[in-house]
Amino acid sequence: MSEKACPTCHIVTTGNVCPKCKSTSLSSDFSGLVIIFDPENSEIAKAMKVKEKGRYALRVR
Ligand SMILES: [Zn+2]
Repeated sequence: MSEKACPTCHIVTTGNVCPKCKSTSLSSDFSGLVIIFDPENSEIAKAMKVKEKGRYALRVR
């Protein structure tokens, strides 16, 4: 199963639609997978403006 990342909110998903912004223009060309468990206390989450836990790509092309 291939994973794709949303260029807008950086969420990584195995589906064809972004679960957050409902975008269908997802990219399989991403790098820097991060898993955020605790957005409130995560510096990465703050830097990425992420407010929900989940899996995110640092860079999406
Ligand atoms: Zn999105």
